[in-house]
Amino acid sequence: MPSLRTLRQRKAPPWFWWVLGLGLLVLALAVWALLATYRDREQRLRHQVEGELQAIGQLQVRSVAEWRERQTSQAMALADDTAFAQWVARWIQFPGLEQENPVRERLRILEERARYTAAYLLDARGNLLLTPGGDVFAQAPQAEREALQQALAQAEPVLVEPRNDAFFAFPFFSVLVPLYDDATPVGGLWLVTDVRATLFPLLEFWPTRSQTAESFLAQRSGEEVQVLSPLKHRPDAPLGLRLPMSHTDNPAVQAFMGSRGIVYGRDYRGQPVLAAVNAVPDTPWVLVSKVDQEEALGDHLRREWLALSLPLSLVVVLVGLAGTYWQWRARLRERALKQELERNMRWLESAQQAASVGFFAWDALGQEFFLSRIARQIYGLPAAGRIGLRTWIEALHPDDRKNVLARHGKSMEERMPLSAQYRIVRPGDQPLRWVQVWGEFEGDPAPGGNAWLTGTVQDITERKLAEEQLANYRAALETQVRMDPLTLVANRRALDETLAGECKRALRSSAPLALLMIDVDHFKAYNDHYGHVQGDQCLRQVAQALSATVGREGELVARYGGEEFAVLLPHTTLEQALEQAERVRCTISALGMAHAAAPGRQHVTVSIGVACLQPQSPLAETSAAAQALLEQADSALYDAKKAGRDAVAAYAEPGTAPALRA
Ligand code: GH3
Ligand code: MG
Ligand code: MG
Repeated sequence: MPSLRTLRQRKAPPWFWWVLGLGLLVLALAVWALLATYRDREQRLRHQVEGELQAIGQLQVRSVAEWRERQTSQAMALADDTAFAQWVARWIQFPGLEQENPVRERLRILEERARYTAAYLLDARGNLLLTPGGDVFAQAPQAEREALQQALAQAEPVLVEPRNDAFFAFPFFSVLVPLYDDATPVGGLWLVTDVRATLFPLLEFWPTRSQTAESFLAQRSGEEVQVLSPLKHRPDAPLGLRLPMSHTDNPAVQAFMGSRGIVYGRDYRGQPVLAAVNAVPDTPWVLVSKVDQEEALGDHLRREWLALSLPLSLVVVLVGLAGTYWQWRARLRERALKQELERNMRWLESAQQAASVGFFAWDALGQEFFLSRIARQIYGLPAAGRIGLRTWIEALHPDDRKNVLARHGKSMEERMPLSAQYRIVRPGDQPLRWVQVWGEFEGDPAPGGNAWLTGTVQDITERKLAEEQLANYRAALETQVRMDPLTLVANRRALDETLAGECKRALRSSAPLALLMIDVDHFKAYNDHYGHVQGDQCLRQVAQALSATVGREGELVARYGGEEFAVLLPHTTLEQALEQAERVRCTISALGMAHAAAPGRQHVTVSIGVACLQPQSPLAETSAAAQALLEQADSALYDAKKAGRDAVAAYAEPGTAPALRA
């Protein structure tokens, strides 16, 4: 409903926006401070975790290096043991228990004391000759035989990197120690270490509790990286995993691409990990100590985040609560306003109904009318929807259309209030109705803008009818007040008023104005003879005859009083008036109304005095002129009576003889 356009949404007060702005600023600052703190703490946490990881990695590297160092140094010591080599040479030359036992004893000591898993005596071609338990007839694996050849060639121990081989049921590490009797190579010692028992435990050590932390050794093997130690998350046998060098985000691969220290990447499971990558000195090995990023940082960072976001959440919750409270208050207020509005609308509706007042709105842009229910009833239009201009125009009375449209148009153009009364035609029992319209302009004052003319329309037909009746009644009353009830000609009051007006006009325009004063002769005798009723009848007949004789525009016949009449003749000179008076006298006489009591004649006659207002000074007083005219006509009448009645006399200045006609 267009009137509701005025019920705009309640605006928040200006301080609200200031407070809101300030609150948002504080919130933004708090977020910024929290983010900065978080970033700082995250950085510190990372440094701490990376430092710990690097320390663990270096610790492990050192123990692995020491382990290998031990292997090498023991082998060196054996290579330098010339006494043992001589024993071996003697035993090979003269095989016998006496020479064999010390050799076997030495092998046994190596196994038991030096913690080798196995110790074998080989000949120079790599055939197994002796174990601590006795003779054996077999050949060492290819790798060990080649290593022995190399060791004999360079006269120092050679290592064979850990691997799986059918020779043993476990992964092993070999050291081949060359033996010389003076400068003659006699063979070598093959020292076998089960890496599961000696090397791997060094990698298992982890000083902190962790679900995902692990260390492993790896070495380059062509275009692959071979993992040498067991993996926590891969139950494959150790030495089973090979990673292509193309997996560049894997820390082990990165290690062989030159990375050292802390690296971030994805491990063999594809998990994001944080790794310390360290080369084991004097070996082809790289030790990777890694832990899942999620475990190392995730939990901590989440906890940090939580701790930091707690005050922020609190602020947000508080702001939210304040907002909700505000909303709730606003909604309550809105509901109360709505209820009040509805109540007012109902009151308005019933008041409009009682007063037959409807509401309308003219949409200048849309060129259509909105009419309220009651307005529609008034116009006799269907009950629903808006109506176009044409429908509304058709409802107007054809005679009023032009005028009404002009009034509406003017009001819209000048943005002025509209007030108009006009007729409408509607189908049904009372086709012609009167309406009163009041309207106010609202909206965009620019031409072509979105503008409305809103207002009320009231059915005033009953009032109009009453007004019409009242006007008729008033007119009738007016006529009655100015009319003599007996003779139905103008009365004395009307004569006085008209005379004053005509005198004024005559004086202003210097036009002549004549007055006839007419008196029925011997009327007392008539009354006495015929009675008053007949007397009244006589007066009526005389009045009728006067009216019939005098009838030009502006001429007036009045009963002056009793049986006296006056005739006012504007624009009439004395001569013309005398002629007119004569005509009147003859007419009455010609009526032949019997008057048996009139001395000397048998019918009713009249005597007439004539006076004329001659052009005088325009400054002359109207009332005085009127009075003079009356007096002069009366004086002339007196002259006519004196002259014997049934006569016409013109007013004569005192001392002059009156002009008489009889
Ligand atoms: P004159 O010729 O000199 O005019 O004599 P007159 O008898 O006509 O004049 P007078 O003034 O003596 O008498 C006037 C009479 O008119 C007296 C009165 O009874 C009568 N009269 C006045 N008004 C009325 C009226 O309304 N009806 C009737 N029937 N008679 C009236
Ligand atoms: Mg008289
Ligand atoms: Mg008389």
